Amino acid sequence: MSVEETPAEEDPLSRPLPSVDIPLLRNQRRDARTKQLALLAAGVGIVSAAVAVFMVVDFGDGDGGDEVQEPTTVGSPADGSAPPNLDDSGDGTSENEAATTAAATTAPTAPSGPVAAHEPTVLGAVTRTEAAFGNGRGFRAALTAAGASAEEYEELEDALEDVMDFRRCRATDRLIFERDTDRNILLFEYRGSSIEYYQVTRNRRGELRGEKVEIPIETRRITRGGSVQTSLGAAFEGVGLGRALVGRFMEAFEGKVNFNTHPRAGDTFRIIAEEERISGEFHGWGRVHAVEYIGQRTGDLRAFWFSTSNDDDGEFYEEDGRAMRGGWLRTPLQYDRISSRFDLQRMHPILRRVHPHNGVDYAAGTGAPVWATADGTVTFAGERGANGNLVALRHANGYESFYAHLSRFARGLSRGDEVDQRQLIGYVGSTGRSTGPHLHFGLKRNGRFVDPLEEINGPGRMMPRGHLPRFRTHARRLGRELARIEVGASAPAAAPPAPAGGDEESPEEPMD
Ligand SMILES: [Zn+2]
Repeated sequence: MSVEETPAEEDPLSRPLPSVDIPLLRNQRRDARTKQLALLAAGVGIVSAAVAVFMVVDFGDGDGGDEVQEPTTVGSPADGSAPPNLDDSGDGTSENEAATTAAATTAPTAPSGPVAAHEPTVLGAVTRTEAAFGNGRGFRAALTAAGASAEEYEELEDALEDVMDFRRCRATDRLIFERDTDRNILLFEYRGSSIEYYQVTRNRRGELRGEKVEIPIETRRITRGGSVQTSLGAAFEGVGLGRALVGRFMEAFEGKVNFNTHPRAGDTFRIIAEEERISGEFHGWGRVHAVEYIGQRTGDLRAFWFSTSNDDDGEFYEEDGRAMRGGWLRTPLQYDRISSRFDLQRMHPILRRVHPHNGVDYAAGTGAPVWATADGTVTFAGERGANGNLVALRHANGYESFYAHLSRFARGLSRGDEVDQRQLIGYVGSTGRSTGPHLHFGLKRNGRFVDPLEEINGPGRMMPRGHLPRFRTHARRLGRELARIEVGASAPAAAPPAPAGGDEESPEEPMD
């Protein structure tokens, strides 16, 4: 892998495509990588449409924490057989609400005039009201505002206190009441999440009992392949994947492919992943099992998700069992281009004399996130002369890394802090002696500056031997499954098929 770029010498066909106009949508699994991806996305200045849409879904209801919806009448008494999860609440979009109302109203139409907030109109046997939790109040106030009497509040709190954490209520959470003609509570639901909710119903003795209800997530395996024409995101969309999965795909190749600059028209991809659905509706992406990228510039790359422990933790490995992610980040940011290399004989652009350039300059937009290249300790975070705002880290085995000209530092970062690989440490800027926004990235080994691009080239570690046989079987099976995926290529310039062997997995050096 290399980051070298000499665009001037490339023919027009192999000009970089604007591939990364897309990543990320909310990742349902809150693993650490989600955060990293978000950074990755921010780093290239992408705010994806997908994210924007989900923001709307998540918070679109923020206008009226206090509103109580028009009650709707459910045709049959709530005996616990009310249709589960009419909406997946929590996501209180107006669309959802419209759908809910439509679905829930089976008999007479609710009156169209304004409805007094706490005086639900009774129609038929059961009256259903729904309200938002609302801003800045406690559980009691929210329930009271939604129409619960003091006694009812006590009863509901008793019923729920063992199953629900009242401190985790959010303004957009929904409170649903179903009452009989005598206004007795038949059912109460607290919906704050699309994958679970809390339900209170009456038992035979007439007491209210609360329980947590998990909404089953169905998973479906999907296999797709496509050909890149204008961007990776468009290619994903072209085969019906939506742009949400692009970030997950890029993550698998992180450190191997720079999707800013490497993709070329005619490159192909394949993916095997799990789609999660709730009540038949798309919910999110689950595990990504296997990915393949075959590119002019990248060579043939495949990665297989595998866990070497019994829990759910795992990561992507190459076919030979080597982890995709190395111990060091070769590039500590998403950059536009390398504007200056490590060169001990360089003619300095500002000083106009030979002045060693003891690092690599990555041109990138001001504010692009900069990450720690490896686990380490902050030895300096502050302003230092020509370096401008500088972060210095000390790592294991006599290494130090330096990040200069930052516009600002990660919040709270200070000397002595321990940082993890890929932790945010600052943002690209042009402070100090600098002609434009870039990151100067320096690396010292045993006190001497070395070329980061030469030094940081280590492949990922091999997985422990004992797991190899099981992994090989697993990877072979997935590899065959990948190979069977038809690439939905619309272009004549489709890449040649991948060689059967796995020998060319790691392209060494760039073509240019
Ligand atoms: Zn520099």
